[in-house]
Amino acid sequence: MLPPVSIWEKTIRSLRTLRLDTMRGKFVAFAVLATLFTTLAMTVMLYGRNRRSLSDRVGQELRTLSSDMAREVDVWLDQRVYDLRLRASPYVVSDNTGRNGAQSLNRLRDYLNSVRQNLPAHEGLAIIGQDGQVLTSSGSRTGFRLTPDRLNNLRTRDALVGEPFWDATIGKAALVLVVPIRRDDGLFLGALGAKINLDSLSDMMGQLSPDHSRDLYLITEQGRVIISSAGSSADVMKTPLPEATTRELSDREGHTIVQSRPKGREVVAVLRRIPQLHWAAVAETPRAETVREAGVLRFRTVLLLSTLILGVGVLAYMVGLFVTRPLERLTDAAARVAAGDLSVELPAGGGGEVGYLTRAFTTLVSRLREKEAHGELEKLSLTDSLTGLYNRRHLMGTLASEVQRSRRLRRAFSVLLADVDRFKQYNDTHGHLAGDSALVKIAEVFRKTTRQVDCVARYGGEEFVVMLLEANAETATLVAERIRTRVAEQDVGQGHLTLSIGVAEYPDGGDTPEELIATADAAMYKAKNAGRNQVVVAGTIEQRPQEKKPARRKREA
Ligand code: GH3
Ligand code: MG
Ligand code: MG
Repeated sequence: MLPPVSIWEKTIRSLRTLRLDTMRGKFVAFAVLATLFTTLAMTVMLYGRNRRSLSDRVGQELRTLSSDMAREVDVWLDQRVYDLRLRASPYVVSDNTGRNGAQSLNRLRDYLNSVRQNLPAHEGLAIIGQDGQVLTSSGSRTGFRLTPDRLNNLRTRDALVGEPFWDATIGKAALVLVVPIRRDDGLFLGALGAKINLDSLSDMMGQLSPDHSRDLYLITEQGRVIISSAGSSADVMKTPLPEATTRELSDREGHTIVQSRPKGREVVAVLRRIPQLHWAAVAETPRAETVREAGVLRFRTVLLLSTLILGVGVLAYMVGLFVTRPLERLTDAAARVAAGDLSVELPAGGGGEVGYLTRAFTTLVSRLREKEAHGELEKLSLTDSLTGLYNRRHLMGTLASEVQRSRRLRRAFSVLLADVDRFKQYNDTHGHLAGDSALVKIAEVFRKTTRQVDCVARYGGEEFVVMLLEANAETATLVAERIRTRVAEQDVGQGHLTLSIGVAEYPDGGDTPEELIATADAAMYKAKNAGRNQVVVAGTIEQRPQEKKPARRKREA
């Protein structure tokens, strides 16, 4: 059974499809990874900080709200006390309080009615006698009876504040405020009481949290809710906060704490005491709210991160392209050159290492091209540039195909090898240029004394070879003799020159071009030895140089 494909292999296989072996792949991978790591680290840091600052922000907002509320309530109370004390001080009040006459009471009632018109929040006003009984009043009388204790208290104080309550007759939360009535000399005469609705406190809370995003409420020391920004009602006032909740809040006054509320709600809350009234202001917000905001924050962070990575990835890809494109072009070009195609053209482009490499490569290719062109020319040329006869390479090719053809057709052909006699001497006497023109003249004789089909070649310096088609040694000797005679008769410029010629016949003189030439050469060597200016036909195969091995060029002078 085959082993299961390991995770490693799978990973490597999928990495291969990403083409990480290419430079561009590596470049993109590096850029994306580098960005991913840095952005991730930064995002985690920023996210943590933002989250902290988010909860800081919510906490700060709640703290500010609760402080503002407490201060506003304080100011509100001071203002109410001030208003009432102002209304308790006129002479008409002190003069008529304590006199139980009907006239005095009428005056006081009229006064109270006029006061009430000027103070709309005052639902009812009453004058209370020293015994705690209401002497006269405007509007509702509810809740105005004072115990002797409390009245006594008032003798030494500026005001008494009653417990807040739900007034069903007016349908509002209200409280009773009582201020003392004194004579000019300070004698305590009684009290002026007012039932004041808490509308303006509700309005104030509405203004502090206009969008109701935060819950604000006032509670008594015992945790009874007085009014709340969500609205007030008898029910609200009847439902106190659990004692533990109130205690925890007031123990950690001014601090943000997380608490549970009925129906499993979790809130973040801050309490601020209002000592004058023994009340407290509470500001809170559902914890889910901050969690939701954190969620939005997280979403934004992730969005930012992804956008960044995507952006940087695309950028890296483009930079990768920019960097690797010239390299890829070079690689392609190198592959084509390696395959023998020198027609590659690369844009001159750019500086830096790649630019330098491209220029070097272009130079290399143009050199190769020059070399190839040179070689091609050499290959293309069939003739010798001095004499216009065929050159040695062409002769050998022609000989090779003639050997094959003659072998197939079982026909003979012959080869003549001619060497100019004492040419060195001619050169030395008349100069190299004269030697050259002599060679041209001799070549002319060769051309004229042979047929079109015969291949006449300049074999070496002053050596000529003629391949005579379908000619045996006999015919070849006749041709050789004719050539020898004509050359000897010809004035080659600065006098006369002679030839020594060797004749070899295929196949007797050898069955390869090289053997045939060697045989002819041996015969020519014999002619030199025999006194030059003569033709020698090579003997049978027994006399071929392979067997006899004559030392070429070691002929006597
Ligand atoms: P030998 O009869 O023994 O052949 O005497 P040789 O002087 O011809 O001797 P050899 O063949 O050794 O010398 C050949 C000379 O031919 C040497 C060289 O100076 C001359 N030669 C070879 N090629 C050329 C050429 O293209 N032009 C000229 N002017 N001289 C050449
Ligand atoms: Mg020679
Ligand atoms: Mg010679």
